[in-house]
Amino acid sequence: MIKWRFKGKTSKWAVKLASLRPFLRKRAVKIYQNVVLWVAQLRSGVCAFGLRDSPQEPFGPFGANHKTMPLILITFWARLLRTLLAFVWLASLALFFSCENPLPAAPNTTGQPQSIGSEPFIVVLGIAQDAGYPQAGCQKDCCREAWGEPLKRRLASCIAVVDPSSAKAWMIDATPDFKDQLYRLENILPGRQLSLAGIFLSHAHIGHYTGLVHLGREVMGAKGTPVYAMPRMKSFLENNGPWSQLVTLQNISLRNLAADSMVILNRRIKIRPVPVPHRDEFSETVGFKIEGPQKSLLYIPDIDKWDLWEKDILHEIAKVDYALLDGSFYQNGEIPGRDMSEIPHPFITESMEIFRALPAGEKAKIHFIHFNHTNPVLLENSAAGKSVLEMGLGICGEGEVFWL
Ligand SMILES: [Zn+2]
Ligand SMILES: [Zn+2]
Ligand SMILES: [Zn+2]
Repeated sequence: MIKWRFKGKTSKWAVKLASLRPFLRKRAVKIYQNVVLWVAQLRSGVCAFGLRDSPQEPFGPFGANHKTMPLILITFWARLLRTLLAFVWLASLALFFSCENPLPAAPNTTGQPQSIGSEPFIVVLGIAQDAGYPQAGCQKDCCREAWGEPLKRRLASCIAVVDPSSAKAWMIDATPDFKDQLYRLENILPGRQLSLAGIFLSHAHIGHYTGLVHLGREVMGAKGTPVYAMPRMKSFLENNGPWSQLVTLQNISLRNLAADSMVILNRRIKIRPVPVPHRDEFSETVGFKIEGPQKSLLYIPDIDKWDLWEKDILHEIAKVDYALLDGSFYQNGEIPGRDMSEIPHPFITESMEIFRALPAGEKAKIHFIHFNHTNPVLLENSAAGKSVLEMGLGICGEGEVFWL
C-alpha cells in the first residue's frame, strides 16, 4: 500500500524527491515512506478510538485489536518522534551545505573561480592607463580591434575593497569610467546591492579622480560620500572647480590622509597611503597598502621608476601577499615620436629584470596593471604577455578577485 501511494497518488512529491542529491534522496525517501505509513496508522487509530463504529481494515501492518492498541500507540508516537528528528537532521544538513556556498562564484577572469563568503576581498574594476582602452583618437593597430569589439575594451585602472559581511565597498580612485565601475561594484554580490562607503584618491591625474563628477548634482547628487585625499590633493579639490562645488554642496565629504598613516575601515580592514615619486603637477601621489584579516595587498598604479623610490620594491613585495604594480608600458620606444622620459614609468621589461631573481612564491604575488593603449599585453596571445606569464608574473584582469 505504501509503495502504491508513493508511486501513484503522490507521484509529484516522488519526482521532487528523486531530484535531490543521491545521499539526501535515500534518506528523504525513507522519511517520506515512514510519514505515509504513520498517517495510515493514525487514520486507523482514529477509527479505533470510536470515531468510526467498525473499522473495515486492520491497522496497517500491526493487525491491531483492543488489546494491542496501547502498543500500537506507543510505537506510533516513538516513530513520529524519530521522523521529526530525522527532519531536523535533514534540514540541518541542507543548511550546512547552503551556508558553505551561499553565493554564486565571484567574477574572476584570470584566477580560479571562488565563492563569495563573508571574507573581504579586492576586486579589479579596471586595468587600463588613465585614458582607458582603446584611447581617444587612436585608430592604430593597438586599438583598432577594441573599437570594433566592445568586449576587448578595458576601463581605467581601479580597484575596490569589498566587505561582504557589511555589504560595503571602498573604491581606490574615481576614474573617467566611474559609472560602469560603480555599477559593477554595486552588483558584485548576487542578491545584495553594495553601498559605496568611500573613495580613496591616489593623485590628480585624469584617470584617478575625474570620476568624482558623477557624485555632483548633475548626476547622483551624492550626500557626503567620504573622499579620502592627501593634503595637496584635498586642497586641489577644495580650490578648483568643478570639484570645489562637490565640496560646498556636500556631495563629498573630504577626509584627510597622511603619508603612511593607517585608516581603519572596520575591525577587519585597514588601508594606508604609501607616497611614491610621480609627476606631481597638482597633487602628491600615493599607492595604497590594504590589510585584511588574513592577507594584504600593495597597489601602485603610477610610479616614475622603481629606483627613484625611497623604498625598495623587492622589500615591499616581501611584506605583502599581493602586489598590483605599474605596468603602463611594456618597453621603451612604445610610443613612436614621443619622448617617453616626459611620462616616466617602469617599463615592464625593466621590472621583469628587477623581479627575475625572485623565488617563484614572490613572483606569484606580482600582477601588472595600468596598461597604456600601446602596451601589447592588452592584446590576446601577444608575445609580450606570454613573456610576463612565463616568468611567473601576472597580468591583472578586470573582475579578478584577491582575497584578504
Ligand atoms: Zn594613471
Ligand atoms: Zn591605441
Ligand atoms: Zn599619474
